[in-house]
Amino acid sequence: MSNLKHGLMQDWPLLVHTVLDHASNWQGDREVVSRSIEGPIHRCTYSQLSVRSKKLASAAMSELGIKQGDVIATMAWNGYRHMEIWYGIMGLGAVVHTLNPRLFAEQLVYIANHAEDQWVFVDLTFVPIFEALQDKLPTVKGYIIMTDKAHMPADTKLKNAICYEDLLEAGNETFQWPTFDERTACGMCYTSGTTGNPKGVVYTHRSNVLHAMASCMGDAMSFSSRDNILPVVPMFHANAWSLAFSGPMSGANMIMPGAQMDGASIYELLDAEKVSLTAAVPTVWLMLLQFLEENPDKMLPHLERVIIGGAACPESMMKIFEEKYGVNVLHAWGMTEMSPLGTIGSRRGGMEDMSAADWWQTQLKQGRPPYSIEMKITDENDKILPHDGKAFGRLKVRGPAISSAYFKGDGSENFADDGWFDTGDVSTIDDNGYMQITDRAKDVIKSGGEWISSIEIENIAVGHPLVVEAAVIGLPHPKWDERPLLVIVKKPDCEVDGQELLDFLQGKIAKWWMPDAVAFVDELPHTATGKISKLTLRKTFKDYVLPTGDAG
Ligand code: AMP
Repeated sequence: MSNLKHGLMQDWPLLVHTVLDHASNWQGDREVVSRSIEGPIHRCTYSQLSVRSKKLASAAMSELGIKQGDVIATMAWNGYRHMEIWYGIMGLGAVVHTLNPRLFAEQLVYIANHAEDQWVFVDLTFVPIFEALQDKLPTVKGYIIMTDKAHMPADTKLKNAICYEDLLEAGNETFQWPTFDERTACGMCYTSGTTGNPKGVVYTHRSNVLHAMASCMGDAMSFSSRDNILPVVPMFHANAWSLAFSGPMSGANMIMPGAQMDGASIYELLDAEKVSLTAAVPTVWLMLLQFLEENPDKMLPHLERVIIGGAACPESMMKIFEEKYGVNVLHAWGMTEMSPLGTIGSRRGGMEDMSAADWWQTQLKQGRPPYSIEMKITDENDKILPHDGKAFGRLKVRGPAISSAYFKGDGSENFADDGWFDTGDVSTIDDNGYMQITDRAKDVIKSGGEWISSIEIENIAVGHPLVVEAAVIGLPHPKWDERPLLVIVKKPDCEVDGQELLDFLQGKIAKWWMPDAVAFVDELPHTATGKISKLTLRKTFKDYVLPTGDAG
């Protein structure tokens, strides 16, 4: 027995700096291309980025006194400096806390205080946010403005404002990464929960490295050094879905979009940098597809795959990418609490005989879990439901890159003692293992005791040529408890009435799912991560009376 203690594999800790070391040593000439905040496109190699990350780590320790376990915030777009901070701060053993600039001021104050942020690295764009908030952030010692001397704002009111490039100058490029336990915290991100205070998710070195490896697998995102990856999804939204780890790990070129995510700017990068894979929430793709529609001479010849997640991908969007532009859509589902990848819709072996129509319906689902994620659906009594594509229940997950609790123990009711995390999503799983989200549990519409999937109705409604965005919410009803209201943003300068939209849904959804009314709005409310905010929408329509409401 005791012999088995000797001659084992090395206890090589899975620390995130090893990802950058590997990229620098073996893919040293591959590039990180960034649209800089100052204007021009910036290019550097992984070798250069590695040297600058070491200089940053060294200067952070010597000049700012940052040490292992300190929480250091960033509020920044995707760019090379954000990546240097990412690896430099995590590599020295401190924690990078990405702040989402789209949050309300009071949420930001709550989050920064709850996390006890010590320093903030801030892009030029967001300096005014902290000038306004800094008096409410007592734990923050100072602000590093992510620019060079020439672009430093002369009159900034930020306390202890330091120029990023000056700080880097003070660093030592021969800095050696320290070694410590792979279970050490390295990242933090707050979920923009729709109820209660935001909750902190803490990533470890081990969870990030394992998650990145799982993301790279062939049936997951399938990255290689031949890819040019454009993460439009920001690093402050669930680690840019891990792309700032999995990209360098696979040696792909990274194309960082900076502050400009409109259709024209994204197209420009897709084309100029021959991007092969990109990832973002559906609202970003709405802007790109609209730009392409207005510019019919422009196509997407280099783009092979687009990962769409964060909210359900409508069928019409998938169709345009696949059929008009020849781009393979990978529909993915995940959560901040899951690092974030949970499932992804690549085609499984053994399904070669499936008809094109059946594959199309399968591809619209949110997909299958890669290795390292355990997943089940259960009823209200925690009884496991079958994988028949019909039974829907609460979706639960566990694995090495899934939270075991929220920071400081908040919201612990979502975590069971045996590790299963209740995602708050309701879904089905079919006999090929493809999971489909029906709704957030709190958005589910219950009509006469039966559930109606708001997501499914929305996805069909946006397929109408004159509809830009659609949302379905449940409103109180005297007879059925709740009935659906369809809320529509229509294309500008077009005429379409409610009945025409209901006719469009006819035959595509169950009769009793048919919305009782259609309301038109100029725009839908969105959360800080680009999802339609049903909570706000329900508030807007709280006094709305359905025409069937008096039916009794
Ligand atoms: P976040 O942690 O902000 O990324 O939000 C995670 C939540 O977004 C999930 O629990 C789902 O409700 C929703 N979500 C993520 N991806 C999808 C998807 N592909 N389809 C439908 N909902 C999604």
